Amino acid sequence: MIYRQLGKTGRQVSVIGLGCEHLDGEPFARVKETVDAALEHKVNIFDVFMPGKRIREDIAAALGARRDKVMIQGHICSTDVNQQYDISRDMPTVRRYFDDMLRIFGGYIDFGMLFFIDSEEDFKNVFETDIADYADKLRHRGYIKHIGFSSHNPQTAIKAINTGLPEMMMFSVNPAFDMLPAGEYTLKHFDEGIDPKMLRGLDPKRAELYRLCAAKQIGVTVMKPLCAGKLLSKEHTPFSQPLTAPQCISYALSRPAVSCVLPGCKTPAEISDVMRYFELDDKEPDYAEILGAVKNDFRGSCVYCSHCLPCPAGIDIAAVNRHLDTARLDKSDIPSGVRLSYSELPRRGGDCTGCKNCEKRCPFGVSVSANMSEAESLFGA
Ligand code: SF4
Ligand code: SF4
Repeated sequence: MIYRQLGKTGRQVSVIGLGCEHLDGEPFARVKETVDAALEHKVNIFDVFMPGKRIREDIAAALGARRDKVMIQGHICSTDVNQQYDISRDMPTVRRYFDDMLRIFGGYIDFGMLFFIDSEEDFKNVFETDIADYADKLRHRGYIKHIGFSSHNPQTAIKAINTGLPEMMMFSVNPAFDMLPAGEYTLKHFDEGIDPKMLRGLDPKRAELYRLCAAKQIGVTVMKPLCAGKLLSKEHTPFSQPLTAPQCISYALSRPAVSCVLPGCKTPAEISDVMRYFELDDKEPDYAEILGAVKNDFRGSCVYCSHCLPCPAGIDIAAVNRHLDTARLDKSDIPSGVRLSYSELPRRGGDCTGCKNCEKRCPFGVSVSANMSEAESLFGA
């Protein structure tokens, strides 16, 4: 297992975690063997958004004395008042469900997630009401260690981050969602299927969100990295061919600020399957050619795929481009953390010889050598 720091929370999370939603409704024995398999693979972060008492108690029972080996993302406002998944913004109801979650998981939750901040209404009903204060108080009293939120909408997510309250975010990240035009609500396409004709290249609003997260050290955990399996299916993929699970994981983990993906698994075999990501050779997780074949209105934007390597000067081109893109958000105020990360790269923009071998291999038309010069002049001073 590989671990990454989850932004400013400082917590080290496994790059592959467990999304527990598909365990809902399964018998306890299945829950237990899946939780055991995750722990055997050294997974240390679980997402538990489900409001149901039984599934929460089954996961806690499966963990048993190993509760402290795992960080739990628990969701504030996730309820099942009418026996179905629901969202409540009613404070007594919200408190009742989250109090129960605290009781079930040993009196604390690692990441208290403000649930489903997708619309302007969601934002107002959470960030401009007692619910945000409630989360803040939970943090001050140690019942939650960090405040996070979940969203599928880049515009609203940016607004939530700019309140300064959250330290981390769970966001839906996969190549199909990232390539839908700005303003398209991804969950609608999740349900209805994604029309290949709609894909237009990496949506600048989503790219802006990832860069903002990097600049503000908002750690990102990823839901729907496989688009519920649609990207793996010949029938449903919007690309010229299906992607593999490792390609989807690799894509999500190469977005700026992303620390961990949370694929939903409901058996030990499914856990073993996603863990194949660690056994592949360098070429197998490469998604660039499949994505590069899509009509792209934003050619020239780096998608951090590393398809342009090897660089004779030994530069990690995707890493330099990632730092450069973050710095471009506000060139007059580059975050010190971004400067530090750039300075720690073993080879930097200034090492570029301008050979342009990389540009011949880049499917996205990125002017790499010009980017290297710009990075050096921005960071090198
Ligand atoms: S142009 Fe620069 S970054 Fe690209 S391969 Fe040559 S040395 Fe490496
Ligand atoms: S420059 Fe092109 S090939 Fe290299 S990481 Fe960026 S998008 Fe991928």
